[in-house]
Amino acid sequence: MSDQPPETPPRSNPLADLLAQLALWATAAGVVFLVLNSTVAPQHLPWRPLRVDDPLGSATGLKLMRLEGDREACRTVLAGGGVRTADRPDRPDDRDQGGFCALENVLTLRGGTTPLRPAGPVLTCPVALSFAIWERQVVQPAARGILGSELASVEHYGTYACRRVGGGEGGRPSEHATANALDVAGFRLRNGRRITVASDWADEGPEGRFLRAVRDGACETFETVLGPEYNAAHRDHFHLDRGPYRVCR
Ligand SMILES: [Zn+2]
Repeated sequence: MSDQPPETPPRSNPLADLLAQLALWATAAGVVFLVLNSTVAPQHLPWRPLRVDDPLGSATGLKLMRLEGDREACRTVLAGGGVRTADRPDRPDDRDQGGFCALENVLTLRGGTTPLRPAGPVLTCPVALSFAIWERQVVQPAARGILGSELASVEHYGTYACRRVGGGEGGRPSEHATANALDVAGFRLRNGRRITVASDWADEGPEGRFLRAVRDGACETFETVLGPEYNAAHRDHFHLDRGPYRVCR
């Protein structure tokens, strides 16, 4: 019999094991982050800043939503994309008009996008940003690709109107009551052609394809998109807003 004491296995330290595992996972997560950051386009990565010049991607909608309450960030993204704006003063609820028509975080587009006609409508910054990205990433490419011409102007029926949905006495306030919506009626091209929702939506040719492409693209940058497929009240325009309801028809 040996008089040597039996060898005892080294005691494991649970805390040290846990820390080692955590360090391993953190390193792996860091490597994945770096690989994604350098190989995936920024429009698909929620942590990369929104840019007007980036094509639409799987993270564009999320980034637009995050900017909704952030006045400064919204303006910074517009300015970074070369979109010129002029701030408009906030205006509190006007009780005479119904008490639900406050203007907050509003501005006017001054350049850097295809002009809206009539010019100078008041818009919330999130609607202006959604419009700028839609116009640059969807409408202009569709005009060039489907109609073979540059876009000259976007015709609209208005942004601000102190009213309820459907225009009646009851019901919830329209997004137009806070200038958080834009009604697009048509598009004028550099070659002189004019495409309108009223005349060309049902067209089987390029005009109709163009309108359906820009409607589909609007669903990526606006929350609510209502057109002729939604109801008869929208037979002649696309209602585009950044309200709380996700609708695309
Ligand atoms: Zn509308």
